[in-house]
Amino acid sequence: MSVSGATFIGGRCNGDLIHMVFCTDCAQQQEDDQKFCRFCGERLPGAALVQQLRQEAANIKAQKTGEVTQTQQSNLATLKAIELARQQSSNSQS
Ligand SMILES: [Zn+2]
Repeated sequence: MSVSGATFIGGRCNGDLIHMVFCTDCAQQQEDDQKFCRFCGERLPGAALVQQLRQEAANIKAQKTGEVTQTQQSNLATLKAIELARQQSSNSQS
């Protein structure tokens, strides 16, 4: 228990996304795999919220890098199909 705290700070910045979890009670930043606050012992938001935040972060990352997840691909395919159907219907009308 000497310098592990120091290595944690800023240690996750390279490449991987930083998942920040904050204690709802004392607002101290936590490791995302902690179940309880290491400062005050308060229970942390939990896996569901972390999962949600990760998903949002992944979406943001995908937008930045141009990568598209499978879900997004199927969503895009659906959007394209709708767009195509719209165009076809408007074409046939005019
Ligand atoms: Zn706390």
